[in-house]
Amino acid sequence: MSKSRQITLRVQSSEGTKRIDADLSDTVSTLFEKVFNAFNLNSFTFGLYKRRNHQDEIISTRSKTLSEVGLSHGDMLYLVPFNGAQLWNTPSGSKTSENSSSSNAIATRGPTDAGSNTSRSILNSAIIGSLRSLPNVVEDEVDEQLWKLDGKIQRKRDEKLCRHGPNGCCVHCSPLEPFDEIYMKEQNIKHLSFHAYLRKLTAGVDRGKFIQLDDISCRIKTGCKDHPPWPRGICSKCQPPSITLNRQTYRHVDNVMFENASLVERFLNYWRSTGHQRIGYLYGKYEIHTDVPLGIRAVVAAIYEPPQESTKDSIKLLPDEREGLVDELARSLNLKRIGWIFTDLIADDVKKGTVKHVRNIESHFLSAQECIMAGYFQNQFPNPCRFSPSGYFGSKFVTVCVTGDDKNQVHMEGYQVSNQCSALVRDSCLVPTKDAPELGYVIESTDKQYVPDVFYKVSDSERLNDIINGQYTLEDFLN
Ligand SMILES: [Zn+2]
Ligand SMILES: [Zn+2]
Repeated sequence: MSKSRQITLRVQSSEGTKRIDADLSDTVSTLFEKVFNAFNLNSFTFGLYKRRNHQDEIISTRSKTLSEVGLSHGDMLYLVPFNGAQLWNTPSGSKTSENSSSSNAIATRGPTDAGSNTSRSILNSAIIGSLRSLPNVVEDEVDEQLWKLDGKIQRKRDEKLCRHGPNGCCVHCSPLEPFDEIYMKEQNIKHLSFHAYLRKLTAGVDRGKFIQLDDISCRIKTGCKDHPPWPRGICSKCQPPSITLNRQTYRHVDNVMFENASLVERFLNYWRSTGHQRIGYLYGKYEIHTDVPLGIRAVVAAIYEPPQESTKDSIKLLPDEREGLVDELARSLNLKRIGWIFTDLIADDVKKGTVKHVRNIESHFLSAQECIMAGYFQNQFPNPCRFSPSGYFGSKFVTVCVTGDDKNQVHMEGYQVSNQCSALVRDSCLVPTKDAPELGYVIESTDKQYVPDVFYKVSDSERLNDIINGQYTLEDFLN
């Protein structure tokens, strides 16, 4: 509609002034591209201002034209780098990357802290245009063992349906794939094991040669050259996709087992003698779990109780100077940190030794804060995976909550949060709510941080359960 009209703008920068030919019907983002090219810049980290004193900024957008933002022939614009960005290729002291994720970051229960400390560069989504080639990933021993199994579910001859002899085979008795849906339903298995899920992915026509698993990212991809950085610009190439919370169909660990009951008994002594809650790290290993096809079980051999301050309804982790030492000691015993355990126990009848039953479908299984903590740990302990360009996908880190069951007995529940939840935690999008422990809150975009839209498929009350990735059957060692 708008008549095409050629104009010339002048753009002044610290490196001189240039003329930019443009059309009044050009979009503002086109102008930014022209400026970028005319000055031979190396990034879009600059702003354009109508006034010399850096006022009247022109915001890059594809939805407005030059005439709509009030530019006309002969206007002078001022080019200013953001935050001292180096726009011209000079031998610059290369910036140190931001991947200084300190593994000693204090894991307080404050999830906001946790979130900001967890950004591991390996998990951040790759820079635009990165290669698909997969690195040589050293997977966990249990993964290597599982890859060697065919995973097929063997079936016996069906007395009613099979019409062949004892050595024959037909559709009624031939082995099933490890991800067979009917079998899963019959056996009441709600989640595929991760390896059954991988077999499902690789069962396609190309035999999964090209499958690629990427951890979800809620961050704007860095390095987009089409516009200045957020909040001044965003485009479909660098914008993280919106997230619809779904129950994950697979899980990385299918069962948690304690090597002996005294481990947990000793851990509970602290609560028994003080009435205060307690956190511990679980050390152990992962093994094949045969109850589900291609399953994995976390086997706990030791519980380490790090420095902490607690009351009857809160726990705060303190900095731990011995963390490295403990990990090293564990390594020499061929163990590693595989999860964490915490108590939420309120005495009901002290004489009977019963405890209150506070966690259930009516309230919550894990609070938002605990989900965030679980996500924080899962991000800290990523799962080596051959199908991920970063070398990691998901996590095998488990969360065990010791609380009262519906018979008021002390019991344990095992959890993992979904990879969606971990991503929201890693990218500091999910925070707890003040008054409702069962509800998490996805923050809104600000000038400092873009947050993708998060949608829920289910009702409010189910939201949090949606990001808890299924409850485990725990071998109960508490008598
Ligand atoms: Zn048969
Ligand atoms: Zn972009």
